[in-house]
Amino acid sequence: LRMVSSEPQGNEQVSDEQLRPHSLEGFIGQPTLKAQLQLFLDAARKRDVPPDHILLAGPPGLGKTTLAMIVAQELGVPIRVTSGPAIQHAGDLASILSSLDTGEVLFIDEIHRLPRPAEELLYIAMEDFRVDVMVGKGPGASSIPLTLPRFTAIGATTREGMLPSPLRARFGFTAHLDFYPHEELERLIERSAKVLGVSLGSGSAEKLSMRSRGTPRIANRLLRRVRDWAVVHDLSEVTPGNVEDALELYQVDSAGLDRLDLAVLQAMVKRFDGGPVGLNNLSAMVGEEAETVETVCEPYLVREGFLARTPRGRVATEKAWHHLGVEPPDDVNKLF
Ligand code: ADP
Repeated sequence: LRMVSSEPQGNEQVSDEQLRPHSLEGFIGQPTLKAQLQLFLDAARKRDVPPDHILLAGPPGLGKTTLAMIVAQELGVPIRVTSGPAIQHAGDLASILSSLDTGEVLFIDEIHRLPRPAEELLYIAMEDFRVDVMVGKGPGASSIPLTLPRFTAIGATTREGMLPSPLRARFGFTAHLDFYPHEELERLIERSAKVLGVSLGSGSAEKLSMRSRGTPRIANRLLRRVRDWAVVHDLSEVTPGNVEDALELYQVDSAGLDRLDLAVLQAMVKRFDGGPVGLNNLSAMVGEEAETVETVCEPYLVREGFLARTPRGRVATEKAWHHLGVEPPDDVNKLF
């Protein structure tokens, strides 16, 4: 298990629940998105109709589920929660749809993983508020159209590009969530610390925010580990030094890199002279699956400027050499 994974781990969904803000106002950061959503909801409220369908796109752990719940809360309507992988047959979705109440929010997490037939059923339902229910089997089977109450679908996806365009086109509002800047994460950590009853000394939230990879879920997880540290060491207040000690134990470094990220950079710098190196060679060197290196490590390393992708392979940047405390060669920037 990686401390810096952006997917929920163990029973984290339960503890995530405790830290979820319940209003748009309590939702930290993403000011543009919040303003757009606020207007969208206000307009629907004023017109007294359920709002149009909403698509939330972005990497895991950035607040898609939280926003869906906030939308329902702000509208004062119930929310039904399901996910692409949970729906195996179109019929599963038909029965959920036909049991919705007027105005209800239907949240479909990982909507890009809905099976094809369910996807087709969904976009008819979203467009025409109707499902065709199959009655009987074999040659005698027939379909009966069933009118649905007006509802609001909220889809969440980490892979917007995988959604077929007819389905994507049925959302009246698409929000893209982006990684959070350090200052926003700092505020988020301060808020979570209050909820968890952790007293953070000056500079501690900032230190934590720098290691959280722009991701609220990771920020909250690191904070919980720091809380463990404070409890065990009987600390009445957590100093930046305590944060450092606690996270060192969990092998998360000052830039939010963990063992695997560092192994990748070490291999590039020490074994391949900074690259270029192919993904398969690199993965073999660190003893990981290529897919893990590509989807788990690289996006963050690239985003933070430690690694660059070139047509000839991966290249360690000057920043990577310095981060490992190794003097880069003079021509380091000529590598890419
Ligand atoms: P996603 O659905 O995108 O994977 P979640 O909505 O489950 O992410 O968020 C993960 C955790 O981070 C939750 O505990 C949530 O409360 C917290 N969180 C995410 N975004 C924010 C935010 N903008 N403000 C406060 N907490 C947030």
